[in-house]
Amino acid sequence: MQTEQCDVLVIGGGPGGSTAAALLARKGHKVIQLEKAHHPRFHIGESLLPMNMPIYERLGVMDKLKAIGVYKPGADFEADNERGYNTYLFARALGDSPGHAFQVWRQDFDKMLFDHARELGADGREGHEVTAVEQRGPRDTRIDVKTDEGQSYQVQARYLLDASGRDAFMASKHKLRKKNPRHQSAAIFGHFRNAEFRPGKDAGNISIYNFPYGWMWMIPLPDGVMSVGAVCRPDYLKQRQGRTREFLFETLKVNPALWKRMEKAELIDDEVRVTGNYSYDSTKIGGLGWMLVGDAFVFLDPVFSSGVYLATSGAEQTAALVDEALAYPEREARLQRKLERRLRGGMRRFAFFIYRFNSPVMQHLFRNPRNTWQIEQGVISMLAGDLFDSWKVRLRLYLFRAIYTVYGIRHWRDWYREHRYRMRQARSQFTGGNTPVDKV
Ligand SMILES: Cc1cc2nc3c(=O)[nH]c(=O)nc-3n(C[C@H](O)[C@H](O)[C@H](O)COP(=O)(O)OP(=O)(O)OC[C@H]3O[C@@H](n4cnc5c(N)ncnc54)[C@H](O)[C@@H]3O)c2cc1C
Repeated sequence: MQTEQCDVLVIGGGPGGSTAAALLARKGHKVIQLEKAHHPRFHIGESLLPMNMPIYERLGVMDKLKAIGVYKPGADFEADNERGYNTYLFARALGDSPGHAFQVWRQDFDKMLFDHARELGADGREGHEVTAVEQRGPRDTRIDVKTDEGQSYQVQARYLLDASGRDAFMASKHKLRKKNPRHQSAAIFGHFRNAEFRPGKDAGNISIYNFPYGWMWMIPLPDGVMSVGAVCRPDYLKQRQGRTREFLFETLKVNPALWKRMEKAELIDDEVRVTGNYSYDSTKIGGLGWMLVGDAFVFLDPVFSSGVYLATSGAEQTAALVDEALAYPEREARLQRKLERRLRGGMRRFAFFIYRFNSPVMQHLFRNPRNTWQIEQGVISMLAGDLFDSWKVRLRLYLFRAIYTVYGIRHWRDWYREHRYRMRQARSQFTGGNTPVDKV
């Protein structure tokens, strides 16, 4: 078999892989990036965060992003006010996060980043799947590749970055991947025309709704399309028993406020997709000569749209690490430990909100935000992805946790009653026989 040589081999052509490939190629390294699919290929994960924007500035893709994205000024959540929702405007965040982000079709966005990495010098190959990896030494990794035309070849790389997403190629191979014991979720979603957008300046918001089995999103995409989906416990989704399309509509109807915006909506291509239980973690981020990037390392839950941001910011920091480690190998282990600590710290801060997002206490606090001690602004910063470096934000997030605990203890009986009431209500709606599908 023919063997090629490179400095860095990147598995995966998603946002994590393309960010790392682009930055390392720009530094002058010989980079090969392998993607088993062909761009543009479908992917879920359409809502970006403001903290992504400085990374795209540094990558040099802001103009390309503006051309394919819908301007996203904030995130809105249901509220007990006249219009039925509160917008958490990114412009009100504490700290230095940008005042907006974008919503994108992932097939266009991922292709744009992949092509950009090529423009910066990475050797990006589509339809090339990594099938095996053998590490012979810290700077000698052999990677077996199969193309979709049936050819096989081998690459010898000084460094391997695994950005293979939820396939988690290396973590699966080394048995590093663990299911998250605290959090299980699955998703069902589709893309619609004629869904109702928020009025005026809120038109580009992501909208988040709750229902007793999880939460739902509405993400406005280019050309009047709306991405709509529900994240729920896997056992809830199992009840669909082959009725995937009907099940999505029945689920959306459980929240009347969301359903009101969907009454005239039509599914594009009649296609409803489902993803299985996807909350997992890896026991370590890498070893000498290899590292995990983005979803290949860890993924929790999409509720705060943090996946692409964590993948690209992790990729940017990993690229800097690899550049330094190739020049100064003695620093590598320490740099890896430091980066892993940092990334896990950010994940833990998101996880506090994610694990409790459906609890009545969290619902109450999101529906009735108060800016005492700038806590609401701290939460907006978290929604913007700014929870790594700003002490102002981290202090507000600690205060929020304290308030959450006090509220929970003081009102637990009320919350519990409310939760049971909502579950009963949802069950009766769901088994009522008169499914919304008939009306669509
Ligand atoms: C239901 C749901 C909704 C979500 N919504 C959002 C959202 O609104 N906003 C957000 O930021 N995130 C969201 N996410 C998360 C987001 O999809 C991911 O976090 C993000 O795509 C991670 O990027 P990545 O580059 O790490 O992996 P990916 O984007 O998954 O890219 C990995 C690539 O590697 C390729 N690959 C895999 N194995 C191999 C191999 N052996 N050889 C070659 N190539 C390979 C794959 O084909 C793929 O193209 C959501 C996730 C889910 C499940």
